[in-house]
Amino acid sequence: MKGISEQTGRDSSVCRSGGGPGGSGGSGGRCPGGLRRSMWRSRWDAGVLKAEALALLPCGLGMAFSQSHVMTARRHQHSRLIIEVDEYSSNPTQAFTFYNINQGRFQPPHVQMVDPVPHDAPKPPGYTRFVCVSDTHSRTDPIQMPYGDVLIHAGDFTELGLPSEVKKFNEWLGSLPYEYKIVIAGNHELTFDQEFMADLIKQDFYYFPSVSKLKPENYENVQSLLTNCIYLQDSEVTVRGFRIYGSPWQPWFYGWGFNLPRGQALLEKWNLIPEGVDILITHGPPLGFLDWVPKKMQRVGCVELLNTVQRRVQPRLHVFGHIHEGYGVMADGTTTYVNASVCTVNYQPVNPPIVIDLPTPRNS
Ligand SMILES: [Zn+2]
Repeated sequence: MKGISEQTGRDSSVCRSGGGPGGSGGSGGRCPGGLRRSMWRSRWDAGVLKAEALALLPCGLGMAFSQSHVMTARRHQHSRLIIEVDEYSSNPTQAFTFYNINQGRFQPPHVQMVDPVPHDAPKPPGYTRFVCVSDTHSRTDPIQMPYGDVLIHAGDFTELGLPSEVKKFNEWLGSLPYEYKIVIAGNHELTFDQEFMADLIKQDFYYFPSVSKLKPENYENVQSLLTNCIYLQDSEVTVRGFRIYGSPWQPWFYGWGFNLPRGQALLEKWNLIPEGVDILITHGPPLGFLDWVPKKMQRVGCVELLNTVQRRVQPRLHVFGHIHEGYGVMADGTTTYVNASVCTVNYQPVNPPIVIDLPTPRNS
């Protein structure tokens, strides 16, 4: 195990010289504004057009798109794309309906469900195999872990973030043979959210009695219990030439950890994600991708996260969980989206880990 647990997300053993992965993802393949050329094409096809792109449209083609609804992104003077709060930010179900009807933003052939790679499929030469899980909730014993190079855990590895749970999870990580193991926190890792814990103590709040009883010295350095992985929290690491960024935040969800209001507060966290990231790990889903909650008949993904992923960062892979009902894989022509929730909505750990093969950057 070469990875080390660290907050800065920098692993001294990894390659930093990389740029994008070999093939189409390198900086040479990018348009001046930070858009990959192939992406420009696929976004064009998908109708997910930026305001400035409308100016390039042949006469009449732009008429199908309302200017006001594509103005959520603009460039500042150094050509960095700025994402702004979406006008449908606070109502993701309505946002989904609007963008689907008016822009076909979530429809085939641009957006598709993807069959997961069978665990026994041979890895193509020159590829790195990522094994993606999330929402294991201290129920790792029955999980059959497949072969792979890099483990990604997208948060909710405990039920309450109790140090005993974190230690048990760390032991499980230590028993796994992957070369790198990368972990973020989720809303259930209450002790990892220092502000949440400070409030909990102040309020003498009994919603989480076993957590309220903890003494600060027992959780202040809870991250240091994760010795068998690279822990990311609004930070980045490069392994095998892949730039990987992780963030635990999600839209407010009944006052759990790492909750933020939809809109500007969450967008500020997404604005920390650097351009050029190959793999993004968040706990919650973006709008429209594996974020459907059937019981409530609602989409619950973050609109600002979707706009950040599709319009600015454009990673090859986005791994998340949180919405247990959304387990599966989708793709939009640029990014593969994985909801890796191992636990079902009833907390049964029955969904298999999801395997994704990506070409290893040549310079790694
Ligand atoms: Zn969960």
